[in-house]
Amino acid sequence: MKTATLNRGKETKYLNEYPLVSEDDIYAHDHLHEGDLFQLLNDKDQYIATAYVGRQHKGIGWVLSYSRDEIVNTQFFERLFDIAKKEREYFYNVEGTNAFRVFNGEGDGVGGLTIDNYNGHYLVQWYSKGIYKFRYNILSALKAIFGYTSIFEKLRFKDANVEGGFVDGDAPEFPIVIEENFTFYNVHLNDGPMTGIFLDQREVRKKLKDQYAQDKNLLNLFSYTGAFSVVAAENAEMTTSVDLANRSRALTESNFGLNSIDPASQYIYVMDTFNFYNYARRHDFFYDTIVIDPPSFARNKKKTFSVLKDYDKLIVGALDILGPEGTLLLCTNNSTFSLKAFKNVVTETLTKEEVDFEIIDVMGLPKDFKTHAHYKPSKYLKAIFVKIQ
Ligand code: SAH
Repeated sequence: MKTATLNRGKETKYLNEYPLVSEDDIYAHDHLHEGDLFQLLNDKDQYIATAYVGRQHKGIGWVLSYSRDEIVNTQFFERLFDIAKKEREYFYNVEGTNAFRVFNGEGDGVGGLTIDNYNGHYLVQWYSKGIYKFRYNILSALKAIFGYTSIFEKLRFKDANVEGGFVDGDAPEFPIVIEENFTFYNVHLNDGPMTGIFLDQREVRKKLKDQYAQDKNLLNLFSYTGAFSVVAAENAEMTTSVDLANRSRALTESNFGLNSIDPASQYIYVMDTFNFYNYARRHDFFYDTIVIDPPSFARNKKKTFSVLKDYDKLIVGALDILGPEGTLLLCTNNSTFSLKAFKNVVTETLTKEEVDFEIIDVMGLPKDFKTHAHYKPSKYLKAIFVKIQ
């Protein structure tokens, strides 16, 4: 097997099970191609771990095992999938929810690979050329361990010249309908990078519905298919969804329809968030709860938006149209934006605006998005509920 030798002093990090092998920590290595297995050695050539080459983030690959004799074959993946499946027993059996993540990358032992179950239709996502090289073993293991109706795949790495799509089983007609905490959503598994619902926000949606929606006038910014609006509308007085993309209107309407809510009874705007702020101010619109769940980066005409630089502007704009005793739900899924840094932006912005506020809830990923104890970026989701006096 190929080898890569660590710089002196870097051994402890990997003995402590840091899963992403960083290029900067490597002193010398054999010629490494995507998908190659290699042994990670300390500066005395002693074995530390077995990893595969799959370039992602700042890493050249992910650790797969701490056993020198490990053979990475179909059985290896079957073993991990079996453990992952057992850990999701709750989700397989719970009533009212049939969509969840069954394998979450490094959290379940293989960085660069995720598998979601959408009511029996499984979606495999490959995050590097390297992990895609194990496609045959991984799909064989998936077929052996998970009972499925169909399997689809998405290739999430640059220069993927193979298209994702249907893999096996009985292909459904899309959209399929999934259920989450007794609310229904449309899902597409073969239409661009997104599926219609972000499963990682399941608990946040539930909290919003149960605690911050009852009889409220709710505004959902960056609403996409309207998931936050739909779940809230079951309790809210009124919801307003705002998204720049034309497609969002029909997708949101049909999600309302699935839940027996007349789409015509709710407001949907196809508009840039900042333009909507101006529009709402001009019309004296006020909201009790405002949900802000933006993408990490976005470009609209000549303007760019980055959560790392511009989150404060989103908060300031929302304050202008927030009613008395209002609540903000502020989210980011950017793994480079730490919870601490995000909280700082929230606190500093609100302090500067001279409002009395209290952070009342901070949420992260649900259990099925199992994270890695020694790899902080795997806890990428942050959702902060703030009460404004
Ligand atoms: N909050 C959503 C997911 C958001 S995905 C949910 O819970 O499902 C990001 C969305 O932001 C996309 O639908 C995109 O069209 C929209 N978007 C990007 N830039 C925008 C802008 N400037 N104003 C409004 N929406 C924008």
